Amino acid sequence: MGTIWQIHGNDAREMTLRLLETSEAWRLVPVGGTVALKPNLVIADTAENGAVTHPGVVAGCIEHFQAHGIRSISVIESSWIGDRTMSAMRTAGYGDVCDRYDVPFFDLKRDRTVSVQTPIGSIDICRRAIEAGLLVDLPVLKGHCQTRMTCALKNLKGCIPDREKRRFHALGLTKPIAALGAALRPGLVVVDSICGDLSFEEGGTPVQTNLMYACTDAVQADAYGRTLMGLAQDEVPYIELAERYGGGSTAWLPSDVVLLNEASAATHYPQPTGTVARLTRSVHADQACSACFAALVRALYATGRGGGQDIYIGQGWRGKQQVGLGIGRCCAGATSCVSGCPPTAEAIARELT
Ligand code: SF4
Repeated sequence: MGTIWQIHGNDAREMTLRLLETSEAWRLVPVGGTVALKPNLVIADTAENGAVTHPGVVAGCIEHFQAHGIRSISVIESSWIGDRTMSAMRTAGYGDVCDRYDVPFFDLKRDRTVSVQTPIGSIDICRRAIEAGLLVDLPVLKGHCQTRMTCALKNLKGCIPDREKRRFHALGLTKPIAALGAALRPGLVVVDSICGDLSFEEGGTPVQTNLMYACTDAVQADAYGRTLMGLAQDEVPYIELAERYGGGSTAWLPSDVVLLNEASAATHYPQPTGTVARLTRSVHADQACSACFAALVRALYATGRGGGQDIYIGQGWRGKQQVGLGIGRCCAGATSCVSGCPPTAEAIARELT
């Protein structure tokens, strides 16, 4: 099982640099090979709304590889059908990043394609993704209205032309997403879970998690992300299917997760509004870390439970007794408690159901 490197914080560039330096990501680039960075720029929006990869993630990747003498780096993406990729890249702040580091951005809607044989038949995949020496998958961990979640595997859908995107939807997404992941097998995945959307691919309800993680397996990245989202295995079946198709391994153990800092490194989250405020109306938060609070929000959303009982969360409850459900080791004095620091949304969801 591969290592999952995890870090908490608010600075996407700094967090990415630490993840890549600690994991020595530059060693994954073949001698003389190219690096293609594949963010999620599904729509024209800024990262704060929960849909697109923070430009600091791309900046951190470029700085890391350039510092290790790797010069042939590009950013590749195609937005969803109906949005213009170049408009999305400028809106998200990628124009400045590419200019600053002198790195080209390629709109894959204009790329030539290669027909690749997969377990579900041939899929046309953009040439720049196929030919990259190291394909670096930079997804946002967020909800999705059809597939419940989207992370590393589904982010690769930006590596196919629009006609294939339409066909994927006609095929029901599950099988083609799994087959595409197995065909591309990105060598490095850096997940932006700083403020991914709770339920929709196009953002609008960002939840401040202030967390990033990196590993070398897109299937493992998704399996771990599903746990962080509080979703059950059968709710996101394309992950196990990608494993069956040879895309990687779903296996991970808590001991595989290497924490580069504590969750308390990122305590700030915005005052809940809208859906998040409704979900957390019975939550008594006192100095909660953002990763802890976000895990609770995701679990409440995934289960649709929790409205009736008092829930306690945060460092302010340490050493005190509470009548209700405690979230995380700070609330060990509650009537019942989900252990962990932070606990995963999956563990909280188990307690809620
Ligand atoms: S258990 Fe306490 S210290 Fe740990 S993440 Fe939750 S609030 Fe922060």
